[in-house]
Amino acid sequence: RAKAQGPGGMEIYTEALGRRASQMLTLRQKIRRGLDAGEFIAHFQPKVETATGRIVGLEALARWSTADRGLVPPSEFIEIAEEYGLIDAICEQVMTDSCRWIRDWQAQGAIPVPVAVNVSGRQFHNSRLLLGQIRSALETWQVSPDLLELELTESSAMADPAQAISVVTQLKDMGIFCAIDDFGTGYSSLSVLRRFPIRYLKIDRSFINGVSHSGEDAAIVRAVIAMARALGLSVVAEGIETSAQWAFLRQEGCDQGQGYLFSRPVAGAVIAGLLQTVFVGAPQVGS
Ligand code: C2E
Ligand code: MG
Ligand code: MG
Ligand code: MG
Repeated sequence: RAKAQGPGGMEIYTEALGRRASQMLTLRQKIRRGLDAGEFIAHFQPKVETATGRIVGLEALARWSTADRGLVPPSEFIEIAEEYGLIDAICEQVMTDSCRWIRDWQAQGAIPVPVAVNVSGRQFHNSRLLLGQIRSALETWQVSPDLLELELTESSAMADPAQAISVVTQLKDMGIFCAIDDFGTGYSSLSVLRRFPIRYLKIDRSFINGVSHSGEDAAIVRAVIAMARALGLSVVAEGIETSAQWAFLRQEGCDQGQGYLFSRPVAGAVIAGLLQTVFVGAPQVGS
């Protein structure tokens, strides 16, 4: 906060503000240059099927590959990029990189699994641009649309549901399925949710965290699974870190899980090998 007392207070305040503003501007310029250099890439985290322990999907997560700072995580650039109108360009690079890898894994003889790319709510304002980018990425790398999915957070889906439903419907018509991400952290009206032609819900990590020790989290997760069933949707749990959490989710009939327990997000180059892994169920671990 500003040091408001004393005659010099105001100056100190504006100085601090000015410093922050110039840092933001510098970051914006760096992102622009990073975009020009094609520095935004995708890493991939597996989605594991509860019933079989097989990898049945991947989530693409943006990474900024810089010469001086190495791999920069999304927490350091997504919000800023949204603010400065650069998110579409970043998403395009992540999507194109994902399609390039899908093609590469196919060439290596890996079993194809769908890759889900995250989109921000802002990208739904300009759906023409988004749909155009998707078409061109698929075409460039000759990837079938059923191998690409999109994840949209619950809060962006519910910010303007009519618009989101329209875009999700157009995507579905193109053969691309969507998921609602971070479910439980937004405010879904069930009557609106049922109108979304989505394929699955991803239960937010914050609820998965406590399932093995908090009765409340366990009850919430059970309720989400039951609700998804009623709506004919699959459920994916994100942020699984322990075998106790995995055991709970398997027992409750959650369809898929994702988390550090199986794998952190990794570079595309190691995915073809990773896809062959079968994760044994929690009850068998260590026995
Ligand atoms: P998200 O889509 O909910 O992705 C899951 C995040 O949780 C990822 O963080 C992932 O690395 C992390 N995670 C996965 N398993 C675990 C676990 O077991 N424990 C913990 N503690 N974390 C786990 P990441 O890669 O840093 O991404 C953060 C967020 O940034 C994403 O959350 C997503 O909202 C956003 N993001 C990432 N890539 C993109 C993108 O290409 N476009 C847009 N618009 N947003 C993106
Ligand atoms: Mg996601
Ligand atoms: Mg998520
Ligand atoms: Mg999340």
